[in-house]
Amino acid sequence: MFDSLSDRLGGVFDRLRGRGALTEADVRGAMREVRIALLEADVALPVARAFVDKVTEAAVGQNVLRSVTPGQQVVKIVNDALVEMLGSDSADLDIDVTPPAVVMMVGLQGSGKTTTTAKLSRLVKKRGKKVLMASLDVNRPAAQEQLAVLGTQAEVATLPIVQGQQPVDIARRALQSAKLQGFDVVMLDTAGRLHVDQALMDEMKAVADIAKPNEILLVVDSLTGQDAVNVATNFSQQVPLTGVVLTRMDGDARGGAALSMRAVTGKPIKFAGVGEKLDAIEPFHPSRVAGRILG
Ligand code: GDP
Repeated sequence: MFDSLSDRLGGVFDRLRGRGALTEADVRGAMREVRIALLEADVALPVARAFVDKVTEAAVGQNVLRSVTPGQQVVKIVNDALVEMLGSDSADLDIDVTPPAVVMMVGLQGSGKTTTTAKLSRLVKKRGKKVLMASLDVNRPAAQEQLAVLGTQAEVATLPIVQGQQPVDIARRALQSAKLQGFDVVMLDTAGRLHVDQALMDEMKAVADIAKPNEILLVVDSLTGQDAVNVATNFSQQVPLTGVVLTRMDGDARGGAALSMRAVTGKPIKFAGVGEKLDAIEPFHPSRVAGRILG
């Protein structure tokens, strides 16, 4: 991932570092190339523009140009800005609360939400927590069974299915079971739809009112690029998201969603899905990702 962006930026930086002295025009020229590279990586236009403005201001405004190694300094400024763009610090789950902690997974159908619910549950269980998963998806046939199958594979408990029960009631039952059986974390896999619509949002809000989640994680497919960012914007306007999980990062060569998500939603990317297997999930580390981009 980020290969093309990395190559483009590498070229710009080599040219910057290769010169002894830099003029403001050199920096502005280099930043134009950075902007194009970001747009080609499918970064949202306002995000790319703000990034370049900020870096340019820092690079020409301070004593950078008069320093002994101006190229080096500009590269460092870009690096720092990139880390900030990706979210600065890696953000973990906020689940060390009086049990049961509730994690609500939201997103569109096909984003990888159910798989991610199982992956995250498995991860949290490996960290020593007792986890219960429940599917609130009563729209898609077999969605609840899909989670049960994944639960067996991931060795995570799932709430027994009661046919005909509605999402809010399932959430209530999940919380009751968790309290009675001493689960530390309840993972709620909510229904997805093909598009963002009001019925989906209303259902999510009703569940959130009941479940009082500690985390509301939006699952989005990184391959959908700017669409992923639009979906995230829509969701974040309707429910208090606490973070984003970007799936299919294993197939995303450009990385635009990863680069734009924080700036557009204000929410951290907490995890990245990197494959279909249940262990293919990683905490998202902005500085490591920036390091990968800058080579
Ligand atoms: P949902 O409709 O949002 O619940 O989506 P699913 O969890 O059913 O996932 C849809 C498909 O995407 C499945 O085939 C998953 O195996 C696949 N998938 C989910 N996350 C990832 C990921 O990070 N990488 C890859 N390559 N595939 C994924």
